[in-house]
Amino acid sequence: MKKVMVVFPHPDDESFACGGTLAKCKAKGQETRLLCITSGCKGRSGPFAIECREKLARHREQELAKAAEVLGIKRLDLLRYADGSLQHADLHELTAKIRDAIVEWKPNVVITFPPDGVTGHPDHIVTCKATTLAVAQAEEQLACGEYPDLYYVSIPHYYDHCPDRGPEPAVPITGKVDITDYRTQKGEALRAHQSQVYSVNRAYPGVIDGDFSVIGCYEYYTLVRSAGQRIEPVRGTNGIPVMEL
Ligand SMILES: [Zn+2]
Repeated sequence: MKKVMVVFPHPDDESFACGGTLAKCKAKGQETRLLCITSGCKGRSGPFAIECREKLARHREQELAKAAEVLGIKRLDLLRYADGSLQHADLHELTAKIRDAIVEWKPNVVITFPPDGVTGHPDHIVTCKATTLAVAQAEEQLACGEYPDLYYVSIPHYYDHCPDRGPEPAVPITGKVDITDYRTQKGEALRAHQSQVYSVNRAYPGVIDGDFSVIGCYEYYTLVRSAGQRIEPVRGTNGIPVMEL
């Protein structure tokens, strides 16, 4: 059975980007692991009166643990970097931490944000950079058959409601995972992030109140590295093919 590792900078990114896919992996008997780089202490606190950044970080970690449970994530690692300032963090050190996790756990698939970070958030962009480097570095220590496939996740429907975009052009999407049967889990995972009511309402109006009709039936990916080789993603001519991880 495949092992799928996702690497994201903030609690909630996993649910927005690939919550349905993670729930589907769990249902298929695959193991999933989330590396969350910051604990989101710079975020909003929603309905909760939390002035202290440290307390907000712990609160968001609890929300993330709840979302992880809903999505059946087997292992959750918190790297606890400072939120909002990953571009000032030591990229070499961050890359090494992700690389070591890959070498130790040997996932078949690694998923992270694309170079534009979907929203253009600098933490998202750094996460893409570090994870992409980490996969290539991990290959130096893994056997050929252990090289993971690296996918960037895209959230095209995010722009249905939110105007923000990254500074770089989005990568062409090369496949979509059918999450029709896992929209409820995605919705419940998003709802677990109650402090992020503002962001959830922006991208998925209604979900916080338990109306999941806005959640689409697909999550979108770009395969950018496989078998130790970079892959230049090409936009298909016949729409986006359905894929399985
Ligand atoms: Zn984020």
